[in-house]
Amino acid sequence: MATFTIGKKDWNKIINYARARYTSEKDEIGGMAVVNPVPNEDTYLISHPTILKQETSGGNCVLDKEALAAYYVDMALKHGNDVQFMWWHSHGNMGAFWSGTDTRTMDEYASGAWSVFLVVNIKEEYKFRIMAWKPQQMYIDTDLEILGVTEKKIPNSITKEVEEQCSTRVWSTVKSGKLNGKQTSLLDTNVYGDDFGIYGGYNGYNEYPHVGDTLTKYNGRSWACSAVDELNDHYMDGTLQYKDYVEAISDLNGELVKVKSTIRVHCESEGMLFHAAQHKYPYQFLEDIAVKETQWQLT
Ligand SMILES: [Zn+2]
Repeated sequence: MATFTIGKKDWNKIINYARARYTSEKDEIGGMAVVNPVPNEDTYLISHPTILKQETSGGNCVLDKEALAAYYVDMALKHGNDVQFMWWHSHGNMGAFWSGTDTRTMDEYASGAWSVFLVVNIKEEYKFRIMAWKPQQMYIDTDLEILGVTEKKIPNSITKEVEEQCSTRVWSTVKSGKLNGKQTSLLDTNVYGDDFGIYGGYNGYNEYPHVGDTLTKYNGRSWACSAVDELNDHYMDGTLQYKDYVEAISDLNGELVKVKSTIRVHCESEGMLFHAAQHKYPYQFLEDIAVKETQWQLT
């Protein structure tokens, strides 16, 4: 199998893009690189990593379609029509792994017989995938040969370029509350209009959408159900990171305590959350501590 190599300067550039965006916004960042065969060797060289105009968040980065189209044209002119491309992106300080969003995004880059993909984090961990599209779809995660060692400081030129090319994603839709697939009366989108930016720069409970009615001692269950439903959706689509999820759950419980509600929201472990959010109803994340205490007394 062919080997894939990248020079240390180009590797550093990718890591520095990742660090720059993580340092300023705690966001991901992504871009492209050129892949050329090394003459007379079963080796490909990855070079010219770059970023393009894009929208970023803590769990996603989406390259601007027009900017990408222009990039392909530009690279074909510079490197010839046979040039291949690598889509790369960062996961901030999270693990370097392929998320569901990532594998779906790969399909959008299908061209020719094969493509390569790279995901990195700021600790320089990575996953590198060779994806064959023809004659049948298959992939292998393999090593990328990095030629040389890496530096630590982010050059100012990189910080500046990242600022110019990236805008932070602001959530512009609010989803209606669902409970077993039915609309609950507590969360009415009309209350907030269609542009209630919920997780744009999530920083604690005050930015959390209060679900319609004010929380009282008596409506804690339905109030928390809507809130958990919303948080789970955002966790699953990658727009809310686990640490922010935990913080939000803790804030929800704080509010429930304040109004003397006996409802509490259970926070799943990081390993279990995705599965739980997919397979459980929101109310299954709740417990009533009053009921629990009674049961204790009975036994
Ligand atoms: Zn990813």
